[in-house]
Amino acid sequence: MRKDRLVLGAFLALVLAMPALLPSFYVTLLNYIGLYAMVALGLVLLTGVGGLTSFGQAAFVGLGAYTTAALTTAPALPGWIAWAGSSPWATLCLGLLLTVAVALILGSLTLKLSGHFLPLGTIAWGISLYFLFGTLESLGGHSGITGIPPIAIFGWTLDEGGEIYYLIWAFLMLAVFTTRNLLDSREGRAIRALKGGMVMAEAMGVNTSRSRMIIFVIAALQACASGWLYAHMQRFINPTPFGVHFGIEYLFMAVVGGAGHVWGALVGAGLITILKQWLQDILPRLLGSNGNFEVIVFGVMMVIVLQRARDGLWPVLARLVPVKPVQKTIDASAESLPRRTLPQVGERILEARNVTRKFGGLVANNDMSLDVKAGEILALIGPNGAGKSTMFNQLSGVDTPTSGEVLFLGQPVAGRDSRQIAGMGMSRSFQHVKLLHSMSVLENVAIGAHLRGERGVISAAWRQDRTEEARLLKEAAFQIERVGLAQHMFDEAGSLALGQQRILEIARALCSDPCLLLLDEPAAGLRLKEKEALGELLRKLRSEGMAILIVEHDMDFVMGLVDRVVVMEFGQKIAEGLPEEIQQDPAVLEAYLGGV
Ligand code: ADP
Ligand code: MG
Repeated sequence: MRKDRLVLGAFLALVLAMPALLPSFYVTLLNYIGLYAMVALGLVLLTGVGGLTSFGQAAFVGLGAYTTAALTTAPALPGWIAWAGSSPWATLCLGLLLTVAVALILGSLTLKLSGHFLPLGTIAWGISLYFLFGTLESLGGHSGITGIPPIAIFGWTLDEGGEIYYLIWAFLMLAVFTTRNLLDSREGRAIRALKGGMVMAEAMGVNTSRSRMIIFVIAALQACASGWLYAHMQRFINPTPFGVHFGIEYLFMAVVGGAGHVWGALVGAGLITILKQWLQDILPRLLGSNGNFEVIVFGVMMVIVLQRARDGLWPVLARLVPVKPVQKTIDASAESLPRRTLPQVGERILEARNVTRKFGGLVANNDMSLDVKAGEILALIGPNGAGKSTMFNQLSGVDTPTSGEVLFLGQPVAGRDSRQIAGMGMSRSFQHVKLLHSMSVLENVAIGAHLRGERGVISAAWRQDRTEEARLLKEAAFQIERVGLAQHMFDEAGSLALGQQRILEIARALCSDPCLLLLDEPAAGLRLKEKEALGELLRKLRSEGMAILIVEHDMDFVMGLVDRVVVMEFGQKIAEGLPEEIQQDPAVLEAYLGGV
């Protein structure tokens, strides 16, 4: 048996045995830990993995709690939901549905915000919902709702702490495993790319606004489920635990535990809950007066954690458990993904017609025309500041020309987003390498295949996507071998040398099965040997029928490699032709050598 499964099995057995081993006070504490961990888990996904900071999760806990409290205690339900009955299970479903609706509305209003505006937005709706719970008379105002019935399951009523314990921890484990499964999938890679890789992910065909919304809704659902359990455990609720103060505490748990890892949520929730209990006992006794001293201690602790252990405690703990992370396996028997039929060699596939791009008074591209044919390498060269990257952006649809147009496979590029363009078969690398450093080479490359899969979040969470996932990973492994990085397949991408990282980007681009590769300064910063390896690779791709456009500053790299050259200076085309012709061209020599 694998060692990691053994550790996990032991942990689950311990969870099961707890109510029998511990006095009821501690079981209650474990109940709270389970409830908090579920909310913190949502924040691991949302904040730790996705990079979206939310202070408002407590409001979603309140939504779950209040929905079930109000409906299960109502003397008679209004007609439109009477069909659902007032069983807690029916109100759970209603609460989850309501949460999806509210999260979609709040998400569409706040997720577009960037930087510190997003956390501020979450505080705003966190406060609003909190006051809504306290103000609505029908929800009991500030005194809340009492008489909430216990949950019953197959006729077994969970009205004691030691009973609902099992339900809470079953929910938590379900949430942990589905979240973990999700992160280890096609959608999961898209989610993991949100933090620090949005531009790259969009270029690979990921709909990043959709991914953001997905994790926002999932985090809200986990909070809602926690609230539902809370209401039926306490049997009464008031607005207090759903305010922004608790929202901060949940975030605190996720960060202290390790916001980048699903188990971090549990570690954080456990630690904070126990510590809080302990400090509440001991501090007033030590200091001889009553007060919320633990809050002060927490404040100090947070600062220390942020200084000393940004990644939280989980990574520290995980090192103590002698279990190596499980390496992914490539299933060679998986069916290969279908391939695009490449255009005929010589067919014109990319065409820029009189492209002009102005930035205010500066004309970065002036009346530029060029075309790229299938099976050729075209170089766009020019001194620094000539307008090459600007032209690259016009060609790849990242930017729109002030006038003129770009056609890809006969279709205008302007007005399409990066995803559509990627889907049509244009793929790119970046002048400044854009990788997810802590992810393996394999997973980085697999992001390139995003558009070639279709299984979504739910099938990923329940591991129904494994056939497709095997096909995607096989494709990624194939591209990694194709570019010669096979021995680094499972290494962290951040550990590669710059030259290898650039090659990785090409593998990722190839993973989308393109017919045109756009490479922005692929040789920049490479050593001679690395340049030679890159040149070899590009020749090989050309011989397989790929069209390649290289934007390059380095003339020497380009000359022995490419079929045709377009030279730019001051935003304009100053020469076009075969490499030998270009090398003799007086205008080019003037531009590069300053008229020697
Ligand atoms: P190259 O890639 O050939 O070095 P660029 O295309 O990056 O050149 O830049 C060409 C010119 O356009 C430069 O003078 C640069 O400062 C200017 N430029 C590029 N992007 C912008 C922008 N977004 N806003 C204003 N000026 C820009
Ligand atoms: Mg540039």
